[in-house]
Amino acid sequence: MRPVPELPEVETIRAQLEPRLAGRSITEAGSHPSAKFAPAMDAIGHDISSVSRRGKYLIVALDDGRDPRCELVIHLGMTGRLSIAADVDARHPHLRAWWRLDGGDVLTFHDIRRFGRIHVVDAGRYETIATLHRLGPEPLNDGFTGDGLWRALSASRRCVKTQLLSQRPVAGVGNIYADEALWLAQINPAVRYVSKPRAARLAEAIRTALTSGLRHGGTTLRDYAAVDGSSGRNQHHLHCYGRAGEPCERCGTELRRRIIDARGTTWCPTCQRR
Ligand SMILES: [Zn+2]
Repeated sequence: MRPVPELPEVETIRAQLEPRLAGRSITEAGSHPSAKFAPAMDAIGHDISSVSRRGKYLIVALDDGRDPRCELVIHLGMTGRLSIAADVDARHPHLRAWWRLDGGDVLTFHDIRRFGRIHVVDAGRYETIATLHRLGPEPLNDGFTGDGLWRALSASRRCVKTQLLSQRPVAGVGNIYADEALWLAQINPAVRYVSKPRAARLAEAIRTALTSGLRHGGTTLRDYAAVDGSSGRNQHHLHCYGRAGEPCERCGTELRRRIIDARGTTWCPTCQRR
């Protein structure tokens, strides 16, 4: 399975988009006819107030002078890519949505695999976007603690890795940073119970892994590129993800890979014992 953009990649995109979009208005828009992308058109006539992020969701705050305000919510899925271009090539086979801005340039959304999603909702009303509605705390905010993570993980008997990917104990962690964090915290990805002290270590490891991703502009494996087309550099700083068959940096044991709940998972059989 291809890696999908996770918190560091989406945050890198957000930081590039915000200064180019805030204060502009959307004069025209178009989309692929699929219901996944057609809501793009609901943003026509709105001004863009800001671009923020929750987990892996980009949230473009809109204003058309009426209450309630709206938000354009974009999930990049597995292969989604946002760019700002001088114009739009409406015949491009992977173009899923576009928004023309005052001034003439265009925000485009290309998505090869079509796992991306676009919604326009009243601000903060995410009932129709199940994962966003039930999203766990932002890992880089103070509200994310080891105790909170322990309580959230204890509410389910699923494998710890699967729980992290569900976005419910914590927002924004996908396959790459889950493998990295579990390796850093020395927790086996298949365990179904994590003690309080280990949850505290895991919370810290999640912050460490995501901060490394952010510092290096995200991880580029196949599809991810920032708005300006540049690649991330974090792939050169991974300890575990994608390194099956290589020696563990901590103990020298060969890292292994197996499928856990349909997701490829790499771990060290020595320092992440069950
Ligand atoms: Zn090891």
